[in-house]
Amino acid sequence: MVREQLQKVQERMEAACRRAGRDPKEVTLIAVSKTKPAEMVMEAYAQGQRDFGENKVQEILEKEMVLPKDIRWHMIGHLQRNKVRQVIDKAVLIHSVDSVRLAQQIEEEALKRDLDVDILLEVNVAREESKFGFLPEEVEEGILTISRFPHVHIQGLMTIAPFVENSEENRNVFKKLFQFYVDMKSKNIDNVNMDVLSMGMSGDLEVAIEEGATMIRVGTSIFGSR
Ligand SMILES: *Cc1c(COP(=O)(O)O)cnc(C)c1O
Repeated sequence: MVREQLQKVQERMEAACRRAGRDPKEVTLIAVSKTKPAEMVMEAYAQGQRDFGENKVQEILEKEMVLPKDIRWHMIGHLQRNKVRQVIDKAVLIHSVDSVRLAQQIEEEALKRDLDVDILLEVNVAREESKFGFLPEEVEEGILTISRFPHVHIQGLMTIAPFVENSEENRNVFKKLFQFYVDMKSKNIDNVNMDVLSMGMSGDLEVAIEEGATMIRVGTSIFGSR
């Protein structure tokens, strides 16, 4: 089942890229395997999928131990500071850096172990009370502060768009994040790359790709509902 569903998602991605005049190679699919067993991850792995997303540190650690070493694990959920130490050498990218304090903690742990850690800043574009992330007006200052942490490397921005019935309702959220991404890129800040724009999930991946996503995080459409 995973095989067919994964294939369908890849077809949706390709169709959206065609509509947007984009090269499908510009968009990385992250298969969000949270709550799903290692066997299902292996079904996707057998089809060539290598990027997987998890929202809990414990689940990355458990799966990482038993699954192939060439899997790239993405930390996409809220990260508590006391869990940083466990995840910084396991995840290729932490999408969910939502405060300067968290970035500071990553810097301290990375310094101790001489690691380089790639991160995205999570932006609460729609200003939802229930969501983590920098508010739009906090993003630039956050980037400037974090850019001075030598072991932490900002690679781009991430957002979790609101849950909506019609994905078109999120087009403006994605447009806004893309605009931030372009603005920040144009500032050419030292130790800051703006190459990754992580947005779009099962319900709205097409709109996100049309608006410039370079990574989409898809769970339900590949692995079924949770
Ligand atoms: C669960 C999750 C996703 C995947 O959501 P689906 O709607 O199942 O595709 C994407 N991003 C984050 C941060 C998540 O926690």
